[in-house]
Amino acid sequence: MKKKSTILILILVLGILLTACKKNENTTTMTNEQVKEEVNETQAKKTIYVSNYPYYDLTKAIVGDRVDLVNITKNQGFHNWEPSAKDLADLQEADMFIYSGPGLEKWADDLIEKDLIGGSILSLSDGLDLLKSTHSHDHNHEEDHDHEEDHDHDYDHGEFDPHIWLSLKNAQVIIKNIKDQVTELDPANADFYEANYKDLSQKLKDLDDKYEETLKDKKRDEILVSHEAYGYLCRDYNIKQVGIEGINPQGEPSLQQIDNIIKLCKDKDIKVIFYEESISPKVADLIANEVGASLELLSPIEVLSKDQMDAGKGYLEIMTENLKGLDKALNE
Ligand SMILES: [Zn+2]
Repeated sequence: MKKKSTILILILVLGILLTACKKNENTTTMTNEQVKEEVNETQAKKTIYVSNYPYYDLTKAIVGDRVDLVNITKNQGFHNWEPSAKDLADLQEADMFIYSGPGLEKWADDLIEKDLIGGSILSLSDGLDLLKSTHSHDHNHEEDHDHEEDHDHDYDHGEFDPHIWLSLKNAQVIIKNIKDQVTELDPANADFYEANYKDLSQKLKDLDDKYEETLKDKKRDEILVSHEAYGYLCRDYNIKQVGIEGINPQGEPSLQQIDNIIKLCKDKDIKVIFYEESISPKVADLIANEVGASLELLSPIEVLSKDQMDAGKGYLEIMTENLKGLDKALNE
């Protein structure tokens, strides 16, 4: 009898110990409710792909970590970018795709036409006054120049300047469109997006005011740039850009073109030649030396340098630095 009851007690104690252990395990990891919540959150988190670094940075300021945000072109620039097989697979899974708009990014036009992008598509040129591209085309469009209103026709030919983000005034329209569309996609975080949007909008306005103030009584009104990315920025503050190369960063000027530019610099009393981080400043340097000008960085925020990335520089920081160079070029 005694033996039997001892065994019974032992079984009981063992049972209690096992239960305690199990309970302990649960409390140190997660309750069932917590597990369920976590799963819901993962399911609810949307994935947004953007076509360009400035769109990534501006969208990130609005969505924070509440959305999985990916710049599909990484740090390769959007001119002539081609998606890999993995990029294509990723884009099909997107909840939203944000890009410059029809006619401004050819690869995106192709993918959209073939219906290869999942989710909703946000064109950031919506609501903006687009400028004609100032670069020369491979094919002649002289006969089209009287038909400025014929937008659909012009879009097919890539007639418009794609660098819409380089205007702080455009950026206001761009971030409102991003905020509205993201809120539609993920209404649960509407207040969070709205607050971030307002904060960003104020920062853009403050910087725009600084540009206006710095450039309102400028001594000169022309800038010499290595790629004609600043059409919208120039329009905002009554500046003219003169390109050392065409709008495509791959181009290089001929000796005759360089001679013409040197003559132009002397005529216009140009003090600063701009270069950008992704292009070798060889030509810009040569011209600067020839005319006694200084060389300054003016960034189109397309391909960031390692230094810029290491310093975690974003749209606002780089646009602030761009103003320093413009101030030097136009006011000194
Ligand atoms: Zn460009």
